[in-house]
Amino acid sequence: MMKNMTIKDFKNRFPDDDACLQHLKIVRYGETPICKVCNKRRKYYRVSTRRCYSCERCGHQIYPTAGTPFENTRTSLTDWFHVMFMFTTSRNGVSAKEVQRTIGVTYKTAWRMCNRIRQYMGYIDRDDPVGGTHSFSGIVEADKAFIGGKDKRGEDDKAVVLGIVERGGEVVATHIPSRQARHVLPVMAHYIVKGSRVATDEARVFQPLSQNGYWHATVNHAQKEYVRGEVHTNSIEGFWANVKRGLSGTYVSVSKKWLQSYLWEFEYRYNYRNRPYLMMELMLQKFPRAV
Ligand SMILES: [Zn+2]
Repeated sequence: MMKNMTIKDFKNRFPDDDACLQHLKIVRYGETPICKVCNKRRKYYRVSTRRCYSCERCGHQIYPTAGTPFENTRTSLTDWFHVMFMFTTSRNGVSAKEVQRTIGVTYKTAWRMCNRIRQYMGYIDRDDPVGGTHSFSGIVEADKAFIGGKDKRGEDDKAVVLGIVERGGEVVATHIPSRQARHVLPVMAHYIVKGSRVATDEARVFQPLSQNGYWHATVNHAQKEYVRGEVHTNSIEGFWANVKRGLSGTYVSVSKKWLQSYLWEFEYRYNYRNRPYLMMELMLQKFPRAV
């Protein structure tokens, strides 16, 4: 198994902003980028005043931070990389307060950094469908959860989230508008391969699954039945416990507007839980393709 990156390894690898920018240039353009003007591979030299490099022949410039979370920010790249590192090593999530303290930026800047990193985690961990016959276990668990509390008038204002996990495999967590079948079932159809075995609780909303191409089995939580052989929803409930612990402990409050990006963050750490060395490495490599 590959070793996890320690903070010391990390600082040796990225001692300063030049090292970070050089890294971005190489992963996004290669050692010798193809110049679009010369139409050839060229040496590019660092332009010292900006985050860019220019072609040794024609002066064409490339900006390795374009299209990354660091684009158009004045925060140093070493700080950015450090905050990404925090996200991959944290257990329950990283708060803007913690980032503010650690790297010494304003709360607003810290919040924006966290937000961009969460979006990026969602981008990297693109949600492929789970289940099917060639999967880890072939058993998928689905469960709804309710996050949040009451609105200003004291009315229930909880957000509905639908979690789908393949036992031993990946989780997909989606913020949906309501617990109704018209919002639940299409998400399941999209993320669960037809023919999978799907375990849920007894909620009515899941009942059409067996007509929709799944082998559906339920445990009756209302009757205090939690496990019947292979039929249980323990994995997804474990994931929800992790999300709720993180949201209540680390984050003061999460608006519905941003809930999905927090879910991406928790998904990301869950999905790489058995390959933690990949968490940081993917963050360092998987930027959108440079244009
Ligand atoms: Zn050129």
